Amino acid sequence: MCSIIGYKGDQYAAPVLVDSLKKMEYRGYDSVGISTIDDGMMLVRKGVGKVAEVNKHLELNEMPGKTGIGHTRWATHGRVNDVNAHPHTDCSGSIAVVHNGIIENYEVLKEELIQKGHSFKSDTDSEVIAHLIEEHHSSNQTVKSAIIETCKRLKGTFAFVSVFENGALSGARFDEPLIIGVDKNGCFISSDVLGFLQYTDKAIFLDNRDIVIADKSGIQLFDFDGNIVSRYPTQIAWELAAVDKGRYAHHTLKEIHEQGKIIAEFNNRDNGRLTQFCNVLSKSQSVYITGSGSSYHAALIGKYLLAKYPKIRAECVMSSEFQYVQDLIDDHTAVIAISQSGESADVLQAVKSAKQRGASIISIVNITTSSLARISDCFLEIGCGPEIGVAATKSFTSQLSVLYRIVNNIGNEHRFQNSLGNLTKAIEATLSIESEIKKISEKIKNVKDIYIMGRSLHYPIALEGALKIKELSYIHAEGIAGGELKHGPLAVVDRNTLVFVINPSDSTYSDIISNAHEIKARGAKVIGISDLKNSIYDHLIEIPAVEEILYPLVEVIPFQLLAYYLALMSNADPDYPRNLAKSVTVK
Ligand code: GLU
Repeated sequence: MCSIIGYKGDQYAAPVLVDSLKKMEYRGYDSVGISTIDDGMMLVRKGVGKVAEVNKHLELNEMPGKTGIGHTRWATHGRVNDVNAHPHTDCSGSIAVVHNGIIENYEVLKEELIQKGHSFKSDTDSEVIAHLIEEHHSSNQTVKSAIIETCKRLKGTFAFVSVFENGALSGARFDEPLIIGVDKNGCFISSDVLGFLQYTDKAIFLDNRDIVIADKSGIQLFDFDGNIVSRYPTQIAWELAAVDKGRYAHHTLKEIHEQGKIIAEFNNRDNGRLTQFCNVLSKSQSVYITGSGSSYHAALIGKYLLAKYPKIRAECVMSSEFQYVQDLIDDHTAVIAISQSGESADVLQAVKSAKQRGASIISIVNITTSSLARISDCFLEIGCGPEIGVAATKSFTSQLSVLYRIVNNIGNEHRFQNSLGNLTKAIEATLSIESEIKKISEKIKNVKDIYIMGRSLHYPIALEGALKIKELSYIHAEGIAGGELKHGPLAVVDRNTLVFVINPSDSTYSDIISNAHEIKARGAKVIGISDLKNSIYDHLIEIPAVEEILYPLVEVIPFQLLAYYLALMSNADPDYPRNLAKSVTVK
């Protein structure tokens, strides 16, 4: 979660760091802090709030010095307050650290360090890193050996960057991302390429157990045993830097509106890896699909698609549950892992354990330089560009688009090639009902619970629609499989209940109409999402007719828009929902 950035170069560090943190704010955003070194003096400013607010209040970007570190926090240990914001300093105030992850053994380390005379200011797990470095550095060790010894003591997951009063900048990673940006006039150490892409497109991706030190003599890389390691620079696509909101009020709205164009461009793309991906899939004796959040909902749709067309049986498992069902995984298994960021800790843990059991890892990612892409045997790119809104919108439909291309290509069947080409028009037509959705959200903004019902492929969309509403508007929402209604959910239905039924004119149509009658008979309000009118609906959100299998790509859009407008009605920030972060890098 969170973003970390370090800079050492010719420019004043603070404005660079503030700028970088703004670009990466989607990763975590409850508090912000910066530390710079000026003339051998360490300065630290930090506080609760978004980057722009804290910057305005504390004038972060005015801090002097050409070396510094910065952080936006997503609290795991210790409340959200100014003291717990990063950077954290050692006792002498000459070493500052920003950290991403969780130090699992921090209580033991803290106790030990207190015994040795260290005094702690915060309740975070992260502060132990600063004191451990101090402990080793003060016993006349070099920066290099102080960092190595510190890393050896830490258990859990971490990427950290530390800065020393002597101007040295260092970083280390273990199961959290850390990337170096190399510029001819300086260097960056960041959790995300977005942290430096506007300055340089040359990146070095650190591996697990890598340490970097940038000082007067340049950049040096070591492993935790002190051995020199070489990592080659990669050139990053500049398009990734396109994170401007354009004419839209929020990134989320812009990203919702980008979906038609992305899918059109994507489906015309010739992806050489697709054949390799499909070969692995068709040769495997068993297939698992895994993901978290929206990616898990995409996985559920993938399961239906694989069953219906290439007739491949796939088991769908939430990544956080994967470890409990992994006993059947072996070298005849393929695991399709779906993750927008490619850094989700749950997904990475699932694929690592599957890989150890010999499974082939084939993944669907947005960030092709991510940890997931790099540990996969083969990966497909969803190609939707950076998604800044924390709630997945365009990445979800792009994941679906890749799943359609997979089932379309297994055995070279090309089942719905033409329909895929026409999808953009259907998506654009659905987006054009935005003002109607805005009116609906005005009418329902005070409801306490929203239920969304669907069958077959529409059930994962009911789950995804409910997730969007929860994430953005904080209204309780639940997705229900139509057939399950009578097995429990009907008990909560009364005159105050609001149910959306996803009901396009396909094989599920009449069964869902029967469910809608059962709901209506208990006095509840029913809003239909369909291309067919029916008197059972109190209101119909009309979507265009498309080929049966492709409805999910269209019917999810009204829920994305609804969640967006419900967020605005409750004064929530749709781009940065409370308590959430984009890249969930902790378990
Ligand atoms: N565990 C640390 C904290 O709670 C770091 C969290 C983060 O990754 O932002 O401060």
